[in-house]
Amino acid sequence: PRTIFSGIQPTGIPHLGNYLGALRQWVKLQDEATPDTTLLYSLVDLHAITVRQDPNQLRQWKKESLAMLLAIGLDPNRSIIFHQSDVPAHAELMWILSCQASTGYLGRMTQWKDKTASAKENSEKLKLGLLSYPVLQAADVLVHRATHVPVGHDQAQHLEFAREVASGFNHVYGQDVLIQPETLISPAKRVMSLTDPAAKMSKSHPNARSRILLTDSTETIQSKIKAAVTDSIEGITYDPSSRPGVSNLIDIIYHTNDTSDYASQDELARDLASLSMRSLKTRTADAIDRVLEPIRARYSSLIGDESTLIDLAHTGAVRASDSASGTVARVRKAMGLS
Ligand code: ATP
Ligand code: MG
Repeated sequence: PRTIFSGIQPTGIPHLGNYLGALRQWVKLQDEATPDTTLLYSLVDLHAITVRQDPNQLRQWKKESLAMLLAIGLDPNRSIIFHQSDVPAHAELMWILSCQASTGYLGRMTQWKDKTASAKENSEKLKLGLLSYPVLQAADVLVHRATHVPVGHDQAQHLEFAREVASGFNHVYGQDVLIQPETLISPAKRVMSLTDPAAKMSKSHPNARSRILLTDSTETIQSKIKAAVTDSIEGITYDPSSRPGVSNLIDIIYHTNDTSDYASQDELARDLASLSMRSLKTRTADAIDRVLEPIRARYSSLIGDESTLIDLAHTGAVRASDSASGTVARVRKAMGLS
């Protein structure tokens, strides 16, 4: 039997990168799952607070993110959908794993190094949660005994860390107390920013035009894609290192094309070779709009249904607490805490 776990931070409406890199995969895994597969998808609000959040904004984002998980096609009868902070076992196991995790290893994480390098502040201002959040992420996955974790490329390093923590813990306390999960990286593993194609598309980037939200209208999609940074080289070719902006648009067309008419981005690019930049952008916006149109429609009817969302969050929390309780009991017993 498989257990699939993954999470998304409620730090804004999910964007096209979240969808192609992770959320679409979540739905696919759900729809293809055999009856003995457990699926858990979490809105990881405790991760969201590693940077300061406005309480009302966070509340709103939690609600919107939940509605979006339903809008993309997750079925609450099949998948356990829940807010992380509703299940205290995540935080409890995190503390226990913190006593196992190496600060040297955490300090070498790319995200920590990026944040400490860009933050000109001294260590007095850097928060502990920012350093230790991979431990919480490890706890998220391990507490549910996940066997498979579908994520985008940027999370691969954190999952490697989770396996390391699990194996270290098992080495001390017993062979199968924790389960080492496998990482499932989606084919669209890194959708790039529209305004800075050297960086990944991100919910928290200050420039809202750097990303396509799953709620964006046809017109907004068109105008953001029209303004996307490309280059002035004649003709269309696929070369992510020398033409990152153009290649990102080709990637988007390629990955939004469900039927996979093309064997590779290169093959697709050969078909697009003679297009003008303007036509390439029109093609891209159309491809995105086709995928987002039904999601947008479902989202707008769900977001107004407050009582259903509250009920679903409650049911999800109960089921997720149940899923987590076995591991916590096992860990406590193995360590002499109970
Ligand atoms: P934030 O800026 O707040 O960190 P985010 O856009 O990185 O937001 P997360 O909630 O951190 O989103 O990540 C949710 C999932 O989406 C993860 O599995 C992550 O790997 C994936 N993901 C995020 N951005 C991209 C992207 N640009 N391309 C592909 N996958 C992505
Ligand atoms: Mg992120």
